[in-house]
Amino acid sequence: MAVFGDVLPFRQFVLKIHSRCDLACDHCYVYEHADQSWRGRPTVISPETARQAAERIAEHASEHRLSMVRVILHGGEPLLAGVSRLGAIARVLRRAIEPVCELDLRIHTNGVRLDTAFCEMFLAEGILVGISLDGDRAANDLHRRYLNGRSSYDQVLRAVALLRQERYRPLFAGLLATIDIRSDPVAVYRALAELDPPNLDFLLPHGTWETPPPGKRGPLPDGRLPARLAGEPGATPYADWLAPVFAEWTKDGRRVPVRMFESIIETTLGGASGTESLGLAPSDVAVIETDGTIEQADSIKVAYDGAPVTGLDVFSHSLNAAAAHPAIRARQQGIAGLSPVCRTCPVVDTCGGGLYAHRYLTGSGFANPSVYCTDLEKIITHVRARLLPQAGATVAAQRPSHSMPQAHFDALAAGFGDAESISYLSAAQRSVRRAVLRLLHERAPLDGDPVFDGGWDLLTRLDHAAPGAVDEVLAHPYVRAWAEGCLRNAGRTAVGTATRSTATRAGHLASVAAAAAIRSGTLAEAEVPVSDGYAHLPTLGRLRAGDARTVTIAVTGPGQFEARATSGKWRVEAGVQDPASETEPDWQPVRVLRSGEFTVRLEDTDLNRDCHQWPAAPRLTPAAVAAWQEQFAEAWPLIEDSFPTYAPGLAAGLSTVMPLANDAPGREISAAARQAFGAVAAALPATGADLALLLIHEFQHVKLGALTDMFDLCDRTDQRVFFAPWRDDPRPVGALLQGTYAHIGVTDFWRVRRDAAGQEPAAAAEAAERFARWRMMTAEAIETLAGSGALTPLGDRFVAGMRATVEPWLSEPVPQAAASSAARWAAERRAAWQRRKDS
Ligand code: SF4
Repeated sequence: MAVFGDVLPFRQFVLKIHSRCDLACDHCYVYEHADQSWRGRPTVISPETARQAAERIAEHASEHRLSMVRVILHGGEPLLAGVSRLGAIARVLRRAIEPVCELDLRIHTNGVRLDTAFCEMFLAEGILVGISLDGDRAANDLHRRYLNGRSSYDQVLRAVALLRQERYRPLFAGLLATIDIRSDPVAVYRALAELDPPNLDFLLPHGTWETPPPGKRGPLPDGRLPARLAGEPGATPYADWLAPVFAEWTKDGRRVPVRMFESIIETTLGGASGTESLGLAPSDVAVIETDGTIEQADSIKVAYDGAPVTGLDVFSHSLNAAAAHPAIRARQQGIAGLSPVCRTCPVVDTCGGGLYAHRYLTGSGFANPSVYCTDLEKIITHVRARLLPQAGATVAAQRPSHSMPQAHFDALAAGFGDAESISYLSAAQRSVRRAVLRLLHERAPLDGDPVFDGGWDLLTRLDHAAPGAVDEVLAHPYVRAWAEGCLRNAGRTAVGTATRSTATRAGHLASVAAAAAIRSGTLAEAEVPVSDGYAHLPTLGRLRAGDARTVTIAVTGPGQFEARATSGKWRVEAGVQDPASETEPDWQPVRVLRSGEFTVRLEDTDLNRDCHQWPAAPRLTPAAVAAWQEQFAEAWPLIEDSFPTYAPGLAAGLSTVMPLANDAPGREISAAARQAFGAVAAALPATGADLALLLIHEFQHVKLGALTDMFDLCDRTDQRVFFAPWRDDPRPVGALLQGTYAHIGVTDFWRVRRDAAGQEPAAAAEAAERFARWRMMTAEAIETLAGSGALTPLGDRFVAGMRATVEPWLSEPVPQAAASSAARWAAERRAAWQRRKDS
């Protein structure tokens, strides 16, 4: 945690643009609760106040060396300020803040005035849009009405429809829904999920012990708070409302990230909550009102009149002065700042006492559990019991909070997906990698191992100074493979009992950091471990270091470093290729395969590459590299020219080809690995066309692996196995889905190849026979999946997309000989499967 003096920085700023609203929602904390300070404020923020606020934020970011701040344009209703005033405010903020750090600029609106003029301005100024919508019409109309009682539902749906248009979709930040326990939870969830938001936030209505929310009780007559989990019927109406939403969400494959549930999972695994209403993280939000006064988070308005006041303003005070204010510091004490009941609560790590405002009671102030205590404990326990049976050990639960527009989901379901579709998968993988690394940092039982700790420190620094280089190294497929391997190992190793091999393995983090420093040219020094006689620098190569235990890497410039170890000293240009000699030099850089502008790494040095189902090849000889290059130069143009529905996805997502050992030359082997996004492993095939086929085939696995990191397509509890026409052994539903999806690519390959110009008749006949065979098997597997009863609704949609691609292929003509041969072959497979079942 970055600290300035002893002040924790703000990272989020709610900037009030307009202090009035065009709706009259009766659950609004600004107008309908205890604090009525809005009455004395200017209606609209002035240009001077906006400029001063922007400068204060920039000053604060600079003092704390923040790499990013978030500013949320808020109200009242901020759209009342109009297009040009909002645009001008955005420019003022960017001009002041962006020379200092990145600015994540958002607006939170009721949506009723949103139109294309606003959206065009948001596009131009880079403003993301969050919309309040409480669910279906019935739920929304309970509160979100105009002053004359008219519903706002249709206007808000129009706004959401606008944000779902392709042009404006990147602006859509999500939906916020305040819960009303009178509404139907499943109908609310379905109505919101159908709008395909990138994020869905369910908010508990604001209330305190003094003014309890609907369905909750205040203190007992003697002033004491009710006992927790009294078990009375109706004692937990909010948990009881959320439980069916959770069931629907999991049934739905967790298609839309629901922040509350994601947050429970994240915090249970030791991560950050991502919302101030859960978790123990210190509050980092400051509010700047339309008159420039600096206040605490808006939700505190619910406690008492004047509750958010700090007495400070942007004209006379810095934001550090606000951060040092006792009321703000009281919200940054973690577990020490909670009530005695909360401090001993079994779910405190996740709950954190709930939202600060919800703890208020006259007399004891905020030193109480939340008025939602019983609900919070119940829903947290409910989610944990269902999703995290072995919380703390499972890496699979590191589900990224990402969504994907339906059009891209459907494109992937069809078997294809362009560069933009792949960008959604890549973004989700980025989150997975970072979550796994964070978990590794928290869990690795190394008790202060200096190599690991040094690596973590350097990586954290570089993440601010050179985030692009850090991302580039972290995106290397075998970094996640390594981190997950370490975590599994850490799960089996008690704290304080780490062996040298555990430490060396985890110490690879220092190698990751050193590689990022070298890539960016950041002058830094790092001690990296030596494994199997080499210091490994992911994405760059490896350095032979003999029997040294560590090597000290000193970066001297972009791509350049000096290395020292007990076994020697080296001066290295990381990108210089090794000479075409059979004698291996000490520095062995990663080579690349090239075709025109397109390059991929030919990865034969990475310490953690051996994670596919076949053994990795040793370092290739120059002759073997030349053979790979020759085939790649043939394969890639073939993919680009003949497979335009696969080429853009491959170009966007394929980063690495990893050579496999092949002890039976001529045997075709290839593989992808779920934890190595972007990599295809293969033994060098016989021809460039064979390489094209295996790249298309294996990249199907890469895409689906990443998609299933985001969404549940199959029912995880279904243990049955199914016939896979291309295999001798029955497969679980997830594996059958993987194989079928990959074989769409294979079928399509032979479908195109049978018509390829200049084919030998024998080759054309072979292609036709393979097409006939693979389309038959793939179609049969699709029907097995569709009828399995083991798919989630999202899985059903995915398989329907696969079927829509393959079905027309079934009626494409093939020569009689090919059709007969394919039918004979399929009949034999089914007979073998039947014999196996009978026995
Ligand atoms: S408010 Fe949260 S942390 Fe406090 S006792 Fe209740 S459930 Fe536990």
